[in-house]
Amino acid sequence: MQNDDLEFINCRNVLDCIERELDKPSRAKVAKHLGLSRTATSLIAQKLIRVGLIKELETTIKGRGRPGTPLVMDDSRWHAIGAAFYSGSWIFVIINLCGTIVAKHQVPVLSTDKDVIIDTLVEGLLYMRSVCPGQMIPGFGIGAPGLIDHKSGAIYRADDLGWKEVIPFGSIVEQRTGLKAFVINRYRANGLAEIRYGNHKNSHNMVYLGIGTGIAGSIYLDKVLQNSTKYRLGHMVIDPHGPVCGCGQVGCLQAMASEGALLSYARLQMAEHPAFLHAAKGKPLQGKLIVSLAEEGDADARACLEHIAIPLAIGISTLANVIAPDEIIIGGPLGDTSSYLVDCVRKGVHDHLLDWQNEDISISQGTQGDYGSAIGAATFMLDQKMELILGESCPD
Ligand SMILES: [Zn+2]
Repeated sequence: MQNDDLEFINCRNVLDCIERELDKPSRAKVAKHLGLSRTATSLIAQKLIRVGLIKELETTIKGRGRPGTPLVMDDSRWHAIGAAFYSGSWIFVIINLCGTIVAKHQVPVLSTDKDVIIDTLVEGLLYMRSVCPGQMIPGFGIGAPGLIDHKSGAIYRADDLGWKEVIPFGSIVEQRTGLKAFVINRYRANGLAEIRYGNHKNSHNMVYLGIGTGIAGSIYLDKVLQNSTKYRLGHMVIDPHGPVCGCGQVGCLQAMASEGALLSYARLQMAEHPAFLHAAKGKPLQGKLIVSLAEEGDADARACLEHIAIPLAIGISTLANVIAPDEIIIGGPLGDTSSYLVDCVRKGVHDHLLDWQNEDISISQGTQGDYGSAIGAATFMLDQKMELILGESCPD
């Protein structure tokens, strides 16, 4: 079956209906929603059941008349492997077609050397392939750092890791594993997991901002990911007199509000005021330590988060003024774990916007945690599951 066949398009539309647009629909509901005949819809549903993409939901029938059998995604047959470089580790997951994790694996990487990072990735992917239950979708979803061309899988640059040269990342992984690599920025992947599996059903236009060693984000218009290297949310200029960013510009959001900026501020205060952050004395100073102290109420840790909340609020207010999203989600390692940071940003944005703008926008905290980026990367590949599973050899 060719990808532009009418039959392929109908299969995709029916699958989208069952996966996202309708809740456990019957064949009749799908037919009505898509304007297809019931016979055509039944034939497509049978095909999708046969290849293990959907299944009929067992129902207990009460009362008179037989309601149509609901169709849902088949969570038992196909599995997808995703990996993401997150908080200094490669995190691997195997998920089913409903996005549920069935296996996970984590390997810390104590280096920013690209060869070490790629070697660890490839080793982990091959391990996950060896433990994958059921049938594996033939490919890998990868949430990588940096500015990524999702079509070629090349990383143009990753300023927070000091990678300035173009790395043919996807091609290297494909050569060494023999399977197709679907590469997406790690925070963009996290946003994809958030939008698909988080509680954001009522939002249509959304911005996800992931905050960690770098800052990257994604924009969804009418729930569709705008996946282009032209979006560089971490490099919005916040202060033309601000610190130098890894990208070579001055005063970027990433330079002012990433984990590095948080730690720089904390170290400066500790140098000037010896009692500052005394609760952190003797421990390695990391973003997660400051976040946990702030959640416990430590005033100094909170002051550090308030410091990075200011540029974040400016950046997000700009996005609100330009894109007017329904929802802005603050995630990544710092956003997911610090409700205090999200509260400060929310307050800052509120002060910058007009009342009627504030009524129409919600600012929420990411919920996907450490595995979110890997789940999102697997999901990015799952968006191609029709092509990968059916391809040109779809059984009739
Ligand atoms: Zn920059």
